[in-house]
Amino acid sequence: MNYDYLIVGAGLYGAVFAREAKARGKRCLVIDKRNHIAGNVYTAKVEGIHVHQYGAHIFHTNDTAVWNYVQQFAVFNRYTNSPVANYKGELFSLPFNMYTFNKMWGVITPQEAAAKIEEQRKAANITEPRSLEEQAISLVGTDIYEKLIKGYTQKQWGRECKDLPAFIIKRLPVRLTFDNNYFNALYQGIPNGGYTRMVERMLEGIDVKLSTDYFANRAYWNGIAERVIFTGPIDAYFDYKLGHLEYRSVRFETELLDMPNYQGNAVVNYTDAETSWTRIIEHKWFAFGKADDGSDLPKTVISREYSSEWKPGEEPYYPVNDERNSQLYQRYCELAKGETNVRFGGRLGEYKYYDMDQVIAAALSAAAAELKA
Ligand code: FAD
Ligand code: UDP
Repeated sequence: MNYDYLIVGAGLYGAVFAREAKARGKRCLVIDKRNHIAGNVYTAKVEGIHVHQYGAHIFHTNDTAVWNYVQQFAVFNRYTNSPVANYKGELFSLPFNMYTFNKMWGVITPQEAAAKIEEQRKAANITEPRSLEEQAISLVGTDIYEKLIKGYTQKQWGRECKDLPAFIIKRLPVRLTFDNNYFNALYQGIPNGGYTRMVERMLEGIDVKLSTDYFANRAYWNGIAERVIFTGPIDAYFDYKLGHLEYRSVRFETELLDMPNYQGNAVVNYTDAETSWTRIIEHKWFAFGKADDGSDLPKTVISREYSSEWKPGEEPYYPVNDERNSQLYQRYCELAKGETNVRFGGRLGEYKYYDMDQVIAAALSAAAAELKA
């Protein structure tokens, strides 16, 4: 055995676990089938702009321990996410707050906004919201549901809002204040120099092999390490023998434009059902339009995101945590108990809609459990 740990996946979970194991004197090898580290938080530099190759990633957390932990690897800027919603050319502030309510209904005070929401909730006759649709209407009323939630959510998840779990929409704050901060988080920002640099620092001094698929030679990889940390899809690990878990995939269409400012904001959501993309990201605004050396950038890079049902051969991005998939996942967990040398972790390994801070917290606690001796 050459290594104590083989870590499959160089994303945040794998990198944090490897870093912690190394710090406790363990020999680690990290492999990834992609040709780069950092998993879905990977950023590539194009014309001085850090492009979020797998979708916009804004670091936000209420967990002081996780925030302090990441400061070792990067200096974070003061970026605060404030997406704009574009509904057929009408622009609204997100998340749902007094600016949104004012634009939607002309209301001026929090009391007027609350009364309007209450009126629409009553009219819809929802007592205990069971689906995303009912949850959304009871949180913000029917008008906002129709213009800012329904089309976007159906594009994003490829399912009707009435067939989706309520928790998905609870991720978004609803505020009776003039606060456009998308997240209820104590800490927020983007690492200066990009996420790839941050993960590079986590992996300093650790053996990493890229363009290496664990499944191409499982027996070999299992033979070189005492234990395996697997951060790929749990159903793929078991060769889908209980059936496929469902995922949403995303296609990114990225363009370099010869203009300094395309849309004036990092994130613009297209919330109608007809526009085929869900959102457009303009990457330079994650760093206030500046290059690493503080200079202005003459060009810009934008990405349109198109959401689709995952099919074999594509990248699985979002677990679909509905009833059917949650039950199937539990059955995979039963199988996983038989794999005594393997720990499953991360967004795909645990089939959880984890944010970055949650993945880091999960990897830290897995490392503490594995390495307690
Ligand atoms: P991943 O980053 O997916 O890493 C897993 C790695 O395993 C991958 O690199 C993969 O190539 C590798 N792998 C899989 N199978 C194999 C195999 N057989 N052999 C070798 N390697 C393999 N979180 C936030 O906090 N803020 C945000 O704004 C945010 N925005 C997001 C936007 C999008 C579009 C998406 C999809 C996610 C977003 N997230 C966001 C969530 C964030 O991306 C995840 O929480 C985090 O990246 C998960 O890290 P991970 O290590 O679990 O998984
Ligand atoms: N959502 C919406 N309209 C928006 C933005 C979000 O209806 O303009 C809903 C949608 O269902 C989405 C959920 O809120 O899946 C959570 O949004 P978030 O931005 O947190 O999703 P993510 O960043 O994970 O793509």
